[in-house]
Amino acid sequence: PPPKEVGGEIVFRSKFPDIYIPGHLPLHSYVFEKVSEFGSRPCLINGTTGEVFSYEQVELTSRKVAAGLSRQGIKRGDTVMILLQNAPEFVFVFLGASRIGAVSTTANPFFTSAEVIKQAAASGAKIVVTMACYVEKVKDFAAEKEIRIVCIDSPPPGCLHFSEISSAEEDELPPVKIHPDDVVALPYSSGTTGLPKGVMLTHKGMVTGVAQLVDGDNPNLYLHTNDVMICVLPLFHIFSLNSVLLCGLRRGAAILIVQKFEIVSFLDLIQKFRVTIGPLVPPIALAIDKSPVADKYDLSSVRIVLSGAAPLGKELVNSVQLKFPNAKIGQGYGMTEAGPVLAMCPSFAKEPVEIKSGACGTVVRNAEMKIVDVETGASLGRNQSGEICIRGDQIMKGYLNDAKATEATIDADGWLHSGDIGFIDADDELFIVDRLKEIIKYKGFQVAPAEIESLLIAHPAISDAAVVPMKDEEAGEVPVAFVVKSNGTHVTEDEIKQYISKQVVFYKRISRVFFVGAVPKSPAGKILRKQLREKLAADFPQ
Ligand code: AMP
Repeated sequence: PPPKEVGGEIVFRSKFPDIYIPGHLPLHSYVFEKVSEFGSRPCLINGTTGEVFSYEQVELTSRKVAAGLSRQGIKRGDTVMILLQNAPEFVFVFLGASRIGAVSTTANPFFTSAEVIKQAAASGAKIVVTMACYVEKVKDFAAEKEIRIVCIDSPPPGCLHFSEISSAEEDELPPVKIHPDDVVALPYSSGTTGLPKGVMLTHKGMVTGVAQLVDGDNPNLYLHTNDVMICVLPLFHIFSLNSVLLCGLRRGAAILIVQKFEIVSFLDLIQKFRVTIGPLVPPIALAIDKSPVADKYDLSSVRIVLSGAAPLGKELVNSVQLKFPNAKIGQGYGMTEAGPVLAMCPSFAKEPVEIKSGACGTVVRNAEMKIVDVETGASLGRNQSGEICIRGDQIMKGYLNDAKATEATIDADGWLHSGDIGFIDADDELFIVDRLKEIIKYKGFQVAPAEIESLLIAHPAISDAAVVPMKDEEAGEVPVAFVVKSNGTHVTEDEIKQYISKQVVFYKRISRVFFVGAVPKSPAGKILRKQLREKLAADFPQ
């Protein structure tokens, strides 16, 4: 459709008509709305053990977990930290927490202890669900704050076993009134600037985010009950939670839960379970492309390969297409704060449209998109690049306890500013061309430069530092640091790298250190990151 003038602004909408969205339903009620229809169909398949949970079983277990969490004193508005790799228990806890109006904050289990504690403290977690091997990371903090720890495997002394929360009787569940604006998920993201912040996603927001993709006559992401979706992307990230798990549940698909990505077992699982939908990130596509064994597997069952979280290059699409002969390969464009999907490949719809190379989809239904000039804020027409903004019920309510950061991201008119630069072409397809914001995306994982910079500056031999992305074939981007040494001190690149490595999860490690006399800054003291990125591009041409 042609963009419309709304209040003097040029606004783009989906080419598919708006749909009815039951935004009044709590998230669990919405995803399980048709559970009686799906009944004994497979819902979750544990890729590690082969165990299958039917829709009825998943729904029942989530109710029991709700009662179990409630027995542990968790109430509406309380926060549950899920510190797990992908596992069926992740799903039970997330949906169980939703049922009692609690909030799930999802964290990467590979985080260092300091990183886990930071999130547990900031989110005000009252209980942590994890595995025995990660308990050490939170044990002392949990003891001090009287936070209970639940393990899905054999619990160390002082921790509960998962069965203690999953075996509660449903009739123990007190009636809970959930408001559509109650927060249900609290993933962490640094957004356009600064440190990671809690992204408040509400029931209504998440229901809308799922419905926009899979509800209605001609859904943007066409899934059906015979589909098998491989869930290898980490559920703690919103892409997997929304577009794989919740979309799959809503449509009655079977979700194959894979604990972690390992190329051979991944290909093996696709073949064995006749996987039809493969949500991926570009580094996984690259691993498939580079794998000498991929050709030995029958991957003909896959009909959709959905890539997101980072840009997917044209050449890679072409070579991955050879491995998935029957698949449509396209991109979705998401951002945690946007709830998360802004645009989806139109070719995944029931009535597909041809895929354009390099496009990352068209704006989702029941939403508005505009492209604004970075300098003037004026909205732009087709084929003009500017900051991508989105408005709709799916976007976050705001950042937890951070009104200033919220205001800087969602303007007074309700537009969420993505910090991504792109344009919309004549066929309503969105192309991302640059990033205005600071974040670095290593294999789709976020690295907040401000977080690494604050660690660097705390080093006695460093007086100033700036962290920016550097292009990398395998990871997409890696963090590199420009460092100013303190007068009269001596420190080496290796020492700095090790110093950071000890404090952060693997993808936040610094890949290169460049010693400089000064970090370029604006008169207001803001690091001129673009200048540094340009210097890198000039010094290390791809
Ligand atoms: P996250 O909140 O971790 O999902 O990160 C969101 C950011 O990832 C976006 O604002 C983009 O910068 C980037 N991103 C997500 N999807 C794509 C895509 N398909 N192409 C390019 N960048 C993407």
